[in-house]
Amino acid sequence: MSPAKPAPAPIIVLPASAPGLFEEKIENDSLDRIRRDIGPDCTRCKLHVARKNIVFGVGNPKAELVFVGEGPGRDEDEQGEPFVGRAGKLLTSMIEAMGLKRSDVYICNVVKCRPPENRLPEKDEIATCSPYLFRQLGVISPKVICALGSCSAQTLLQTTQGISRFRGEWFDLHGAKFMATYHPAYLLRNPPAKSDVWKDLQKIMAYLGLELPKKK
Ligand code: URA
Repeated sequence: MSPAKPAPAPIIVLPASAPGLFEEKIENDSLDRIRRDIGPDCTRCKLHVARKNIVFGVGNPKAELVFVGEGPGRDEDEQGEPFVGRAGKLLTSMIEAMGLKRSDVYICNVVKCRPPENRLPEKDEIATCSPYLFRQLGVISPKVICALGSCSAQTLLQTTQGISRFRGEWFDLHGAKFMATYHPAYLLRNPPAKSDVWKDLQKIMAYLGLELPKKK
């Protein structure tokens, strides 16, 4: 008999209290208050220079499931709503495939203003804006947080590991279950990855007690 393989080391060890994460406990905090605290014309980071609209978040303030993307793109910047462009339409279909509506879940981003040319948000921008995301998550207190893409996954797990190392795995994140999956924009460029994402979404559905599609 071959010797038992040692259990693989956990790829990510979360500190008991990740610094900054959900840390800022504000009494009677609310989504309205967070939006007011950001202000009508935030200039805290350099993204304010080119943005048209601050894209705060949309959906059910008591959602059991929150999707977190990286930052608004051009359509989102124009309309002031997250995930309304091509990637957003795909996210909407993913939500509907789960048997939910957009208005059942909450959708937001790590940074609230569009990075120019749709580049990834930079470290200083994430550091400035993510406390508002953490407050949103603290107020909504969802059962499941689903990070879309590596920027969101790495920000929430406070890791620099690539998303493909931990996508589809469950983590405990300050009282919520957390899972990262690929970003819908990545799926538009790489449709075969849709099957991985569908597997991840089905794990979330099972956890939330949503009806799974019948096996054919
Ligand atoms: N990509 C994101 O990460 N967020 C959006 O709101 C739109 C596209």
